[in-house]
Amino acid sequence: MHRAIALYSGGLDSLLSVIIVKSLGIDIVALNFFTGFTKPIDDKDKYYAEKFGFHIKQLDIREKFLPILKNPKKGYGKNLNPCIDCKILMLKESKNLMKEYKASFIVTGEVLWQRPMTQKKDIIFYIEKEADLKGLILRPLSAKLLPPTKPELEGIVNRELLYDFWGRGRKKQLSLCKKFGIDDIPQAAGGCLLTDPQFCKKVKDLLFYDQLTIEQVELLKIGKHFRLSEKCKIIVGRNEEENKILSGRKDLPLIYPLDFKGPFLIISGEYSEENLEKACKIAVYYSKRQKVPMVIKKEGREIVKEYSAMEEKEIVKYRI
Ligand code: SF4
Repeated sequence: MHRAIALYSGGLDSLLSVIIVKSLGIDIVALNFFTGFTKPIDDKDKYYAEKFGFHIKQLDIREKFLPILKNPKKGYGKNLNPCIDCKILMLKESKNLMKEYKASFIVTGEVLWQRPMTQKKDIIFYIEKEADLKGLILRPLSAKLLPPTKPELEGIVNRELLYDFWGRGRKKQLSLCKKFGIDDIPQAAGGCLLTDPQFCKKVKDLLFYDQLTIEQVELLKIGKHFRLSEKCKIIVGRNEEENKILSGRKDLPLIYPLDFKGPFLIISGEYSEENLEKACKIAVYYSKRQKVPMVIKKEGREIVKEYSAMEEKEIVKYRI
């Protein structure tokens, strides 16, 4: 049996591409590349892998992705998404694994002209060349609009059974969902946080202060973020679940209201007494009270002190 590696984001197009190639009798190893901003594999992905009989594997490429995000050779898309360089990285990583997985080609869910940055013909070919995979990337959804690839020329894949989708419309994909019995239809895209303008504000802040690390990126995924100084940030929990996560960070100073349910807050980076006071006042503001005794847990000690709320006009100065 022939085998291919598929780039699998968990979005609809990547799932359909995997299923199409699998239905042609080719074994698939679906690789989900975790950049720190992409959606990790979840139960839904595992369900589809089992239902359609493909292997699924998550690969952590955060260490390699962060330098690209800081300085993408081909720039950013509409937000902070360095898609061209990111695609090249994922394809290079896939190429390196072809031998290990005994795969003879690579499958992607790309649809011609669907996304302006990476899915124009010239860009597709540029990415393919940079990844040194000329003729080895099969795009089942748009294959009939592209030159035949090696697996098609060698008769491993029947070109007639592939598709000619293009553009942003989703109708054709949805009819394929019916055909293949995809009941719970995944999101159109894989859900990369670097395409979310609100999230990107927080990433831009880290880039500006040269503080973009794997740990800082993970912290961006919870709470409201405030920058108090060049080296000091605070994160305020927005709900009980986030408060619980923040209170689990034993390595960072924690602030929370004494005796009643309210926001938890952690301090990240170096902080002064002035910053500590500001952090407490911001926590009081989000507790929706005027004055609150706050517990400050730091360096193995606990202090309780009463603070009044910071004024809203001052808070906005610190909000990222
Ligand atoms: S959307 Fe995100 S994960 Fe997808 S190619 Fe662009 S940067 Fe990479």
